[in-house]
Amino acid sequence: MPTLSVTGLRRRFGSAEVLAGADLEVPAGTLTCLVGPSGSGKTTLLKILAGKLDPEGGKVLLDGRDWSFTPPAKRGIAMVMQNHALFPHLSVRENAAFGLEEMGVAPAEAARRADEALRWVGAAEWAARRPQELSGGQQQRIALARALAQQPSLLLLDEPLSNLDAASRLELRSMLRGLVREKGLTVLCVLHDQKDALAMADRLGVMRGGKIIQSGLPIDVYRRPADSWTATFLGMANLFKGKVLQVGAGEFIAQTDLGEVRGALATPSAPPALGAAITVCIRPECLHLDAMPPEENAFKGKVVDSLFQGDHALHDFATSSGES
Ligand code: ADP
Ligand code: MG
Repeated sequence: MPTLSVTGLRRRFGSAEVLAGADLEVPAGTLTCLVGPSGSGKTTLLKILAGKLDPEGGKVLLDGRDWSFTPPAKRGIAMVMQNHALFPHLSVRENAAFGLEEMGVAPAEAARRADEALRWVGAAEWAARRPQELSGGQQQRIALARALAQQPSLLLLDEPLSNLDAASRLELRSMLRGLVREKGLTVLCVLHDQKDALAMADRLGVMRGGKIIQSGLPIDVYRRPADSWTATFLGMANLFKGKVLQVGAGEFIAQTDLGEVRGALATPSAPPALGAAITVCIRPECLHLDAMPPEENAFKGKVVDSLFQGDHALHDFATSSGES
């Protein structure tokens, strides 16, 4: 049973419908990542789950129970806000223990939990320091430790990797994955960068206009995006208009400006009709330059530019229908 199941969540601010019926599942023991453009309602969704904001409609089940019967403080949900505030006058250990006494945790147990959480995030050696003596990435770990010390059944993270340098981002990425695996945490994490999300997530949700427009395994969402917008939001995509010539077994053949293309259907359960207009998405990494092309999915053209990217190169390729 999923730990968290959200259906039809709604919320307005004035006349703006910020959550327009959002559905999301966060299975127990997973790191579920949510991506979407700025203003799509990600933080609003997290705030509602954390009990900082009331929904106007929809249902939230936590371990199968309707959470509206449980007061927010008893839901066992901890959130690390995007601009988490560590207290400058408190030590790292005191910051990590902050809020536990209010929750009714005895001081000795609060200290034990804070030390344990600091160990989990690799911050034990900074326990006596002040937050301002730490780097941005180190501070982010303390904010995480403070949430972990609450021993939440669900941890919500709002853009924990923003404003970190590349090395700290990679470190925190693998630390979070390790924590989910080793400690059995259930985490819903909003991310700004699609590459971080694809790399980190056990499950990925894509949010737009107050709705989750697609969710699933990252590889499925990336390879079978629900629409053109999702395709381009998650990575580079060459999009071609086409007409369906054949459909079967999760595949299609379409006539496009590029020629005949065979590919996988984004939604095999709802295949398009013969002759229907479709959009074909070809990820750049799926195209290979070959002097002896295969019979299928081979397109004639000319490389007009090559951009060296270190571990790979991007080629601009001119076909009879235009550049791709
Ligand atoms: P995201 O986190 O995806 O960038 P948010 O959930 O923060 O998006 O915001 C979604 C929309 O709701 C934005 O247009 C934002 O301006 C608006 N909004 C968020 N919080 C409030 C609020 N307290 N009052 C009025 N409008 C808000
Ligand atoms: Mg936000």
